[in-house]
Amino acid sequence: MVTMTTPKTTQEKPVELPVGFNAWLLDCAPVEGCTVCAANLRQLRAHREAGRITQAAKHATEIRDHASGAHEPR
Ligand SMILES: [Zn+2]
Repeated sequence: MVTMTTPKTTQEKPVELPVGFNAWLLDCAPVEGCTVCAANLRQLRAHREAGRITQAAKHATEIRDHASGAHEPR
């Protein structure tokens, strides 16, 4: 008896984003004097240096949120 097992090809491809795409993901303009921006920028840099682009991008998004007034102290 032949067991029908489909051979699984495990192709671990490293996720490599084009540099321009990274630049766009991490593009942000932290506002001087804003503690929320400063904190997020620190995290962004740490993640970027560790190669965690998705994490870094999250902080870039948070910094961009400054324009929406999300950083304003209440
Ligand atoms: Zn801010």
